[in-house]
Amino acid sequence: MKVSVIGTGYVGLVSGVCLAEKGHQIVCVDIDRDKIEKINHGIPVIYEEGLEKLLKRNLNGNFIASTDLRQAVLESDLTLIAVGTPFDGQEIDLSFIREAARQLGEILRDKPGYHAVVVKSTVVPGTTDEVVGRALEEASGKKAGEEFGLGMSPEFLREGMAIQDFMLPDRIVMGGIDDQTLEMQDELYSVFPQADKVRTSNKTAEMIKYTANALLATMISFSNEIGNLCAALGGIDVVEVMQGVHLDKRLSPILPSGDRIRPLFTTYLEAGCGFGGSCFPKDVKALIAHGRKIGRPMTLLDSVIHINEQQPRQVLNLLQKHFPSLKEVPVAILGLAFKPGTDDMRESPAIPIIQGLLAQKSQIRAYDPVARREAQKLFKGAAIDYCDSLEETLDGARAVVLLTRWEEFGRLPEMLTGRAEAPLFIDGRRMLDKRSIARYEGIGM
Ligand code: NAD
Repeated sequence: MKVSVIGTGYVGLVSGVCLAEKGHQIVCVDIDRDKIEKINHGIPVIYEEGLEKLLKRNLNGNFIASTDLRQAVLESDLTLIAVGTPFDGQEIDLSFIREAARQLGEILRDKPGYHAVVVKSTVVPGTTDEVVGRALEEASGKKAGEEFGLGMSPEFLREGMAIQDFMLPDRIVMGGIDDQTLEMQDELYSVFPQADKVRTSNKTAEMIKYTANALLATMISFSNEIGNLCAALGGIDVVEVMQGVHLDKRLSPILPSGDRIRPLFTTYLEAGCGFGGSCFPKDVKALIAHGRKIGRPMTLLDSVIHINEQQPRQVLNLLQKHFPSLKEVPVAILGLAFKPGTDDMRESPAIPIIQGLLAQKSQIRAYDPVARREAQKLFKGAAIDYCDSLEETLDGARAVVLLTRWEEFGRLPEMLTGRAEAPLFIDGRRMLDKRSIARYEGIGM
C-alpha cells in the first residue's frame, strides 16, 4: 500500500520505517529540512534500538523521506498524520495538526479519487471529526466520509521499545467515519495479523489512547504517594510493600504449574522520582483541561499530576538530609533521559533535579549512555560536566543520584564497594538492592 506520513518525529519515523519493513511503500514528510536530509542519509535523528538498521535497509527501497507533501500525497492512497500535539500550558495545542490538515486539504482539492486520512497523533476526543475533518473539508472543498476518508488510529509505542512495540503490537485501534477508511486501515494493518484489532468511532479511538495513558500515570502517582507515606512513617520500605501487593493473584496470576506471571503492568506500581516523557504528562494534562472545558473536572487526574510534579523534590530532600548546603558538593547524576532506551529528555525528572542543584551551585557531573546531546541542548551554558563513562562520573562524587533505570547501572554496587570514602547513594528509581550499597537512600523508605 502507498502511504504518506505527515510529521517525521518519534511516531512518524518509527511508523514509517516499520511499515516499510513490512512491505508498504512509505514517504515520510516533515517541514524540518535538516531532519529529512539526515534521514535520507541513513541517520535516524532519534535514538531507538534497531531503528538505524531498519532505516538503512529500507531507504530508497520501500522508504523515503521528503519535504514535498504534495507529491507524497498525490502518489499515495492513505495519509497518516503524526505531528506533535503539545500541551500549551492551558490545553492541547492543535496548531500543528490544524496546519497539517489545511495543507493536506489543499492537495486533496486537486487529487481525483478517494484518499484516506488517518490521525495517529494523540488528540482529545472529538478532534479528528470536528477539527481535522472540518479543516480538511474547508481546504479541499470535499466532503469527509464521501470524497475522502477520515480515521483515527492512536499509537501505543513506548519510547525505548518503539521498534519492538510497533512490529509486535498488542492491539490496533482503528476509528473511521466511513467503511472505506476502515477497510483501508484493515489493509494497512494486515501486516500485523497477530494483533487484536478494535474497530470503533474516531472519538472512541481518541478516548482509548488517553484512558490507557491516564491509567498508567495514575498507577505511578499512586505508588509514589504510598512511597512518600512509607518514608514519612519510617521503618517501612515501599519496595517490600509493593512486592507484597504484586503477589495478589489478580496482579500476578498463578499458572497451574504454580509459576507466576509477572505482568509488565506491575512495573507501573513502583515508587520513584516520577514519570516524564513526551506523553504521560502532556496527555493527562490535556485530558484534564478538556474535561474542565466541557464542565467535567477530573479531580483524580489533577492529583496524579500534582503528585508527579512534587516527586523530583523528594530526591532533592534526600540529598539535603545529608548535605544541608549543597554548595560546591560534587554530585554525580546517573541518567538524564526520562527512561532507559531513549535519548528523549522531554519532561524528564532529571530536569527539575538538575535545576535545583544548579540553583544551589553544586558541582554537577552527569552521565547518560545516549541522552548527553539532548541534555547539552537543554542546559546550554550551564555548569554541568558531562562524562563519557560511569567510572568517570563517580570519580570524586560525594553524592551519587540514580535517575534512569539504565541496565549498566546494575554494576554500581560492585563499583562502589571498597571505596575509601563511600559517597551517599540516592536511588531515584529503586532499581538496586538497598543492601548492596553503603549509605543507600531511596524514594519511599
Ligand atoms: P515529535 O515532536 O517527535 O515529531 C513531530 C514532527 O512533526 C516534527 O518533526 C515536526 O517538524 C513535524 N511537523 C509539524 N508540523 C508539520 C507539518 N505541517 N508538516 C510536516 N511535518 C510537521 O512528536 P512525536 O513524539 O512523534 O509525537 C507525535 C504525536 O504522536 C503526538 O500527538 C504524540 O502525543 C503522539 N505519540 C507519541 C508517542 C511517543 O512515544 N513519542 C507515543 C504515542 C503517541
